Amino acid sequence: MAKFPCNNIEERDGDLYFAGQSVEKLAKQYGTPLYLMDEDRIRHNCRVYTEAFAKHFVKGSRPYFASKACCFKAIYPIIESEDMGADVVSLGELLTAKAAHFPMERVCFHGNSKTDEDITIALDLAVGCIVVDNAEELYVIDREAKKRGIKQKILLRLTPGIDPHTYAAVATGLVDSKFGSAIETGQAEELTKVALTLPHIDLHGFHCHVGSQVFAEDVFERAAVVMLTFCAEMQKKTGFVTREVDLGGGYGVRYVESDPSVDIASRIGEVAAVIHKTCKELGIAEPIIGMEPGRSIVADAGMTVYTVQTVKKIPGYKNYVAMDGGMADNPRFALYGSKYTCLPVKNLDKPLPFIAALVGRCCESGDMIQPDIAFPEGIKRGDLVATCTTGAYNFSMSSNYNRLYRPAVVMLKDGASRIVVRRQTAEDLLSLDE
Ligand SMILES: *Cc1c(COP(=O)(O)O)cnc(C)c1O
Repeated sequence: MAKFPCNNIEERDGDLYFAGQSVEKLAKQYGTPLYLMDEDRIRHNCRVYTEAFAKHFVKGSRPYFASKACCFKAIYPIIESEDMGADVVSLGELLTAKAAHFPMERVCFHGNSKTDEDITIALDLAVGCIVVDNAEELYVIDREAKKRGIKQKILLRLTPGIDPHTYAAVATGLVDSKFGSAIETGQAEELTKVALTLPHIDLHGFHCHVGSQVFAEDVFERAAVVMLTFCAEMQKKTGFVTREVDLGGGYGVRYVESDPSVDIASRIGEVAAVIHKTCKELGIAEPIIGMEPGRSIVADAGMTVYTVQTVKKIPGYKNYVAMDGGMADNPRFALYGSKYTCLPVKNLDKPLPFIAALVGRCCESGDMIQPDIAFPEGIKRGDLVATCTTGAYNFSMSSNYNRLYRPAVVMLKDGASRIVVRRQTAEDLLSLDE
């Protein structure tokens, strides 16, 4: 019997259902490979954050959806109506949010290597906040803000020196990062002092992002203590009072049944308790708190459906089930060896004795979704298979490798479905070629 990582996946009479809808029916209607997204699950995940924020943090505190996890126009009205902000890391993401009429004052622009074009367009569109990574960028923002006669709100990105996976109190390895300025080396202090001298820079506070797919108990707590301690130190040294601290993204999600499930609402409560206590001890006012969840907003709201093309049994070796997608629509196993739950779309109530690697159609041996999936006996060409928890870092990481067409994205809500990104065609692909 198959096991499901999330409760929006069910088996009914042996058939796979997602968000209350028959996966087989959706595959027939829209074709494969196909990305499915569960709107109610996205909204639910947003509310976990917004409700916890309203309960625990000072007014003005807000979670920002990390666009890079899943970026297309239809995501933004959902994020907006759930009262979240959005963080973007490129003009592509920014202009997608803009095209979807997302309020620009709720956008936070990130990135460790912003171009002059990024900065000028961000200022022209009046993005609410820029998270500044380095001195070069800071001077360009000051210059461009001066031309426009404005002061641009910014946060400075710092590296607090916390390793989310090793539990070391200070892992200097994480000071060694392409992102942000290190607190430990004094560079964060230097950059803060520069920012305070620039007349068109409106420094609100500091940002950090310690990692992704974080399960360790107190990563955000430790980051908060380091950040708030830095705030108190800057206040003592320069008089600057921090108004805002952004703790970045990163709570983990369940890809396979053996992954723990994180109770994000109570985790945020615990982070808030540490923030209250630390601010009191340091004698500083509690700043506005930001967080930037990506994966934990959209991952379990997604599923990818494929059609099996070939079943290859190599006696004495391995079995392969090859389908019509692969690393072009989901590069995460090829990139990081990521785990996924993959399921047959029919016969889920039967034993699943046939163990095979689920592989894609790209000309690359590493093109695999998962090495050891349990399939029903007799799985064959034309059968459907699904990968669960593909809402984050799948569509947004997809490519046209081998000139494969990007799959369509279909949003599911209340028993209805709608295309939110149509399937690419040869015409789309050729449209850029001269
Ligand atoms: C990737 C990233 C996020 C989102 O991380 P998740 O693990 O998807 O929640 C948020 N903020 C920054 C700066 C990031 O780089």
